[in-house]
Amino acid sequence: MNKAIFLDRDGVINKELGDYVKQLSDFEILPHVVEGLKIFQENGFLLIVVTNQGGISKQEYGRSEMESMHQYLKQSLFKEDIVLNHIYYCPHHPNQSKCLCRKPASLLVERALAKYQIDPSQSYFIGDKQRDIDCGMAVGVKGFLIEPNENWVPIAQQICQ
Ligand SMILES: [Mg+2]
Ligand SMILES: [Zn+2]
Repeated sequence: MNKAIFLDRDGVINKELGDYVKQLSDFEILPHVVEGLKIFQENGFLLIVVTNQGGISKQEYGRSEMESMHQYLKQSLFKEDIVLNHIYYCPHHPNQSKCLCRKPASLLVERALAKYQIDPSQSYFIGDKQRDIDCGMAVGVKGFLIEPNENWVPIAQQICQ
């Protein structure tokens, strides 16, 4: 079995703007992310992002804009020798349609657990909203709730000590 760190995207990986992150120029990787992900990767964790992107359903931005941000993120991290294993996203918004994948629902985490043979009891979720924590807890993944844009390197050090 593998172990993984699940990370919310906006406010954990890139800067939370208080509005949808709609385009590449809005996407600012937070300064502590490389250090934090390296700690996890060196300690044998898979790195998996799980993000609600309801702005797609609301047509605030498109999948192609989101994909360009995710490409940029993966490439920026890869230059630092960090492999982001998977980015799962929910494109739905409850105003438009119901779904089973929007956090706090746990479907996307369940998919990751199955695909990568992850043991939830050895895995953690870092998020800046209670729904992130609830999403992990629903499948036995312990959560760490941070403030938006907070430096979570101390959490990585604590988990990996
Ligand atoms: Mg967030
Ligand atoms: Zn969904």
